[in-house]
Amino acid sequence: MNVILLGPPGAGKGTQAQRLVDTHGMVQLSTGDMLRAAKSSGSEMGNRVAEVMARGELVTDEIVIGLIEEKLTGSDAAGFIFDGFPRTLAQADALGALLDRTGHTLDAVIELQVDDEILVDRIVGRAEQARAAGQPVRADDNAESLKLRLMEYYKKTSPLIGYFHAKGVLQSLDAMGEIDAIAATLSGMVKDAAT
Ligand code: ADP
Repeated sequence: MNVILLGPPGAGKGTQAQRLVDTHGMVQLSTGDMLRAAKSSGSEMGNRVAEVMARGELVTDEIVIGLIEEKLTGSDAAGFIFDGFPRTLAQADALGALLDRTGHTLDAVIELQVDDEILVDRIVGRAEQARAAGQPVRADDNAESLKLRLMEYYKKTSPLIGYFHAKGVLQSLDAMGEIDAIAATLSGMVKDAAT
């Protein structure tokens, strides 16, 4: 059982992926989290991508495909939730090849749909809450980087909606309601895709 969560920054992919981990025992693969962990660990790759991420641009396909390949080949998990990957057509092709090679299937691609104004409010709100609570604020959670993140999404990631539609695996979900309600709908979609 392998599922891709697709959607713009702030759509709630990470939040909903975590719910699927809790309810379906799936393993979340978030390239954003992996890249932030690489940055925190001070590895050479982490340092190399930090500025690109802070600006809101995508890091190279080669780096993220490498990260995913490492996780997929070394795991016997029952199912993966890809969160924030693939983000380009090249990444989508690479994932397809990787799944074939490792004997996995892609069961569903679920697009979380959220209007732009709501995305901006959510991300700016998340940064303000973190700041107020004395927690670290993500380097890319500011108005300027967010503009670039959205632009990168529309230019490079949104073509994947057509790509997966053509493959017959795309489903879309209104992700503007309550977190619990969205989680329940999503859980149903994943269950259906598994049967
Ligand atoms: P969000 O979905 O809120 O933008 P993520 O945590 O998924 O946040 O990603 C943060 C940043 O990490 C991206 O803006 C990009 O720089 C980098 N990144 C994450 N995943 C990928 C990917 N698959 N390809 C290229 N860059 C990525």
